[in-house]
Amino acid sequence: MIAATPGARQLGDDHGYDNRGLLKLFNTVNNRYFDGRIQAEIRWEIPVGSVAVFTGVDRHPLSADSPIHPVFDQACEALARNDSQGALPLLIQCADAGHKDAHLLLNHLLLRLGDTRWPLYVKRYNRHSDSHQAVPAACYYPESRVIAIHPYVHERKAPQFVLKYLLFHECCHQLIESDSSNPHPPAFMEWEHSAPARTRALEWLAKEGFPTLPLTADEH
Ligand SMILES: [Zn+2]
Repeated sequence: MIAATPGARQLGDDHGYDNRGLLKLFNTVNNRYFDGRIQAEIRWEIPVGSVAVFTGVDRHPLSADSPIHPVFDQACEALARNDSQGALPLLIQCADAGHKDAHLLLNHLLLRLGDTRWPLYVKRYNRHSDSHQAVPAACYYPESRVIAIHPYVHERKAPQFVLKYLLFHECCHQLIESDSSNPHPPAFMEWEHSAPARTRALEWLAKEGFPTLPLTADEH
């Protein structure tokens, strides 16, 4: 996670948070993996901002040669000549097959026609596109060179390999420039992938409910 402005809530040693321990870990990571090149201030602090986490039902994209595409074209033609009743079964067929645009059009049409199936299809559509905003476990603020680690990571007694992974990830943000619209470009991921105990750390974070980078199938 990368963000532009540091947050205000900082937790120091007086709250029982081990800032010195965290700093020591940072120094270890910095020296071992980055030749001590990273200059940052490390804090237990709730990261500012949030990231979108997809929680919907996985929808496999339709293949380009799916027979559903011509059906959708027919439905659009029917709609163009105001033939709602003709378009309706075609759109239902497309929506049931997972055609996203057809599903949206169908929702509008059902509503307009006062069709009792409208709530059902809206619910189904929402289930496929659900997401929520979540606060990340750690964050790097390039302007102030601050690495913030979420205090909840401390509350959950994160093992050292998790803290090391988070520090490693945020160090990569200082090393490789990126912006919030694409915080993890390929050059970043190349470095990030060599983080120690990466898979185990991501699994721990996911288990604790933090949004994480996706693990590919062979990393599980
Ligand atoms: Zn990041």
